Amino acid sequence: MFIIDPHCHMVSRTTADYENMAIAGVVAISEPAFWAGYDRSPAGFIDYYRQLTETEPKRAAQFGIQHYSWICLNPKEAEDLGKAKEVLAEIPKFLSRPTVLGVGEIGLNKNTPNEAKVFQQHVQLAIDCFRATETTAGSCEAGKHHLILIHTPHLEDKLKGTRMILEMLNDFGSAIDPSRVLIDHVEEHTIGMVKDAGYWAGMTIYPVSKCTPQRAVDMIEVHGAEQLCVNAAADWGVSDPLMTHRTMLEAKRRGHSLETLMTVFYNNPARFFGQSPRFRLKPLRVTEVG
Ligand SMILES: [Zn+2]
Repeated sequence: MFIIDPHCHMVSRTTADYENMAIAGVVAISEPAFWAGYDRSPAGFIDYYRQLTETEPKRAAQFGIQHYSWICLNPKEAEDLGKAKEVLAEIPKFLSRPTVLGVGEIGLNKNTPNEAKVFQQHVQLAIDCFRATETTAGSCEAGKHHLILIHTPHLEDKLKGTRMILEMLNDFGSAIDPSRVLIDHVEEHTIGMVKDAGYWAGMTIYPVSKCTPQRAVDMIEVHGAEQLCVNAAADWGVSDPLMTHRTMLEAKRRGHSLETLMTVFYNNPARFFGQSPRFRLKPLRVTEVG
């Protein structure tokens, strides 16, 4: 079984993690830009974007894994509007790199006015840069903006933050195509509103917090496998790059078909990412022979 992990912070992981993921069937990873555990300077972001677009694809390729990334300033670092302005000015040149799928993971952390402002600036950037670079090159004519990957806040801030994000996206009107936006870290109380509004939903599985494999499979059963991706979001904290696999095992244990597993763990991310011509894998079909 091949797996695409749509959200992993590999800059924090070892080469052994890449190897274990490859042995466990991971053939592609997408890595959103993330908080480093401390607030960076604008120059630190440039170095980080280079690591995401130059170093990690090479590290992943040693194990036959395709590595893609997303570029943004993380919501945790959006409070300083002066710094945000400086960093956002550097983002367009990275958005045109060959393994970058879009803008992400933008979003909210504490749902503050400054975070909201920087979120809106990122969405505008996804629209403006796409118009400026991709459409003139003729490579992305079907879409109106770069793909967008969104982080929703955790714990008590999640419901309010998810509502704020949906409202802000709505304010962009027809400039935003919900099928080109993935809203991540959904839980039982937010998955319905995300999918109902036409967006893709991502479930993040963690060993000690966020969602468990059991809860994730419950949500697949209640809300259906369409427009849904599962990820490990493994980073520098307590996390496990094989949580995606543990979720697949739980689904298997409950008797879900190979087709459902393929849909959630391979074809859905392939379909969402495949809206970017830079993503090189196509959805697969399960067929019995003989
Ligand atoms: Zn993340």
